[in-house]
Amino acid sequence: MSRIDLHLHTTHSDGSLRPSEVLALAKAANVTALAITDHDITTGIPEALATGAELGIEVIPGVEISSFDGKSELHILGYCLSWEDEEFNGRMATLRASRHRRNPLIIERLRAAGLDVTYEEVKALAATESVGRPHIARVLMLKKYVTSAKEAFDRFLAEGKPAYVARELPTPAEAIRWIREAKGVAVLAHPTWIKETSEGLRARVTTLKEAGLGGVEVHYSTHSKSQTASYLEMAQRLSLLVTGGSDFHGITKPDIEVGYGRGDLKVNPRLLEPLKEAAASR
Ligand code: AMP
Ligand code: ZN
Ligand code: FE
Ligand code: FE
Repeated sequence: MSRIDLHLHTTHSDGSLRPSEVLALAKAANVTALAITDHDITTGIPEALATGAELGIEVIPGVEISSFDGKSELHILGYCLSWEDEEFNGRMATLRASRHRRNPLIIERLRAAGLDVTYEEVKALAATESVGRPHIARVLMLKKYVTSAKEAFDRFLAEGKPAYVARELPTPAEAIRWIREAKGVAVLAHPTWIKETSEGLRARVTTLKEAGLGGVEVHYSTHSKSQTASYLEMAQRLSLLVTGGSDFHGITKPDIEVGYGRGDLKVNPRLLEPLKEAAASR
């Protein structure tokens, strides 16, 4: 049975596989259409489009932008955007620069905790401008300080842990506006990350809709059946599009597979057309 996957990371941000490698996994998983949604960067899209043309997989240009609404970190996905847009890419460069201001502070804290790691090593491993905590986690894995990225986050990198440093983030309204100005559709990623009652979540998503949000990532690797049902109901009530994806990262999330998430993810190909129509009317 065919499926789609609208949330995938590559080596252009904090995924561990190249776009062509992700596409090969997608082909094997019967994925007919996918979106590359690297953090703060669009440079992986040309390779994905070329491989997609070879393998017969439709590639939707995408991006994922972290934002902060004063309470929580919200990730905003952008779909079908004009990914070559200069103004948009300039904004993404600004976000990547804020990563380069934060990451050395994280490294300082790791060193203060006695771990021998440098930002030069992290940048060399990342080999992209969009350097994230998962790259730091991978260096800690290579140096045998931890055995998994999860352990690196749980012990050092997650919010509240000794090496956590906050980053300057745009507001969700800004991220949504940037995506819309690049002719894309903005979608709230993994609502399970927002710790809220369903009423509280609906109120906050209503505010995002007023700012131009077009959809909600209802189907996601770590959503339970009841969460999926509740997000679906919310999306329908607010007349928002429904999307879904695995958030595949390769080695830093080894339990997540392209197209299948933790095994039970299935994003229906029928969800794609409404998304493309919404983008076309932008
Ligand atoms: P950053 O973009 O540098 O703030 O890093 C955040 C990214 O780290 C998220 O987008 C996830 O991809 C990843 N991440 C967050 N928590 C974990 C975890 N426990 N294990 C592995 N990756 C994680
Ligand atoms: Zn990531
Ligand atoms: Fe995310
Ligand atoms: Fe993601």
